[in-house]
Amino acid sequence: MDLITLSEDGLYCPAGDFHIDPWNAVPRAVVTHAHTDHARWGCGKYLVAAPGLHLFRTRLGKDADITTVPHGEVVDHNGVRVSFHPAGHVLGSAQIRLEHCGEVWVVTGDYKLDPDPTCLPFEHVRCHTFITESTFALPVYRWETADVLFGGVNGWWRANRAAGKCSIVYAYALGKAQRVMAGVDASIGPIYTHGAVEKVTRAYRDSGVELPPTTPVSEVVAGAKEKGKGKSKAKPWAGALVIAPPSADGSPWAKKFEPKSEAFASGWMCVRGARRRRAIDRGFVLSDHADWPGLLTAVKESGATRVLATHGFASVLARHLREQGLDADVIATRYGDDDTADAGEEAEA
Ligand SMILES: [Zn+2]
Ligand SMILES: [Zn+2]
Repeated sequence: MDLITLSEDGLYCPAGDFHIDPWNAVPRAVVTHAHTDHARWGCGKYLVAAPGLHLFRTRLGKDADITTVPHGEVVDHNGVRVSFHPAGHVLGSAQIRLEHCGEVWVVTGDYKLDPDPTCLPFEHVRCHTFITESTFALPVYRWETADVLFGGVNGWWRANRAAGKCSIVYAYALGKAQRVMAGVDASIGPIYTHGAVEKVTRAYRDSGVELPPTTPVSEVVAGAKEKGKGKSKAKPWAGALVIAPPSADGSPWAKKFEPKSEAFASGWMCVRGARRRRAIDRGFVLSDHADWPGLLTAVKESGATRVLATHGFASVLARHLREQGLDADVIATRYGDDDTADAGEEAEA
């Protein structure tokens, strides 16, 4: 029997009797990372990689039964050896390695190979069967280097500042937003945050990740009202960088920053149609997922002879790998696309 099978609740390890990133509440969940489509609420017990604890607490609540394990340390579940290895996706993200009777499987969750100052780099783990995400599994998806990308973001912010405009970047609140603040030149001007971004940023700082100073927009509004009493209206937004979740795009919340220039940070910005569909000024190609070359490198370095692709362009990746002589197939999971997903909580200001 396979070490991992697909049950109605998600990826299941029958030998160890636990689920990995289940989409329903199950008694025992081993979880790759804190994005809501992978870390579902209501499970009996959670086992996660240690660096993600504060994020999991933010997402699952203070009463969730969470056990942490340092990366690389082995936990035994009914004879199945379970260990976590950095996935380079967001803070605390892990690939899960399972070993049983000499058979090794790795479940990647979400991952990227690109450098990211806000989390540990992806580690290549050898295995027989590799379950890989495939969000951006088309040859058209290739990411720029951080220098090129953030050179573009900084140039855009500087130009807006010179023109007296506010710069707003829409970026997924968990991971992407922190990567943006860590990557920009914070000496250009103040960085303000949407409430949903600030909440996650606090969990990053509590976890020891160094980030430039940020001020929640709500505090700036309160301060400006105070200062503006009896005087001409204060203009706190000109020249600032505001980081907000994608759900804030086009909302009444975003109106107050006029005059403004808006940008969206996402892997989908690689394709021109995606930029056009959003009525924004700029698209920055920034993803927390592997691009096409990254996916192929990860598969090759795993040494796996069997690959199961999931979420995204899974059938394209599986077909390509079969052409390379691998035993590759699609495994149908219910994970979403956190590159564009809007968690309900992000809609709040
Ligand atoms: Zn994710
Ligand atoms: Zn995912």
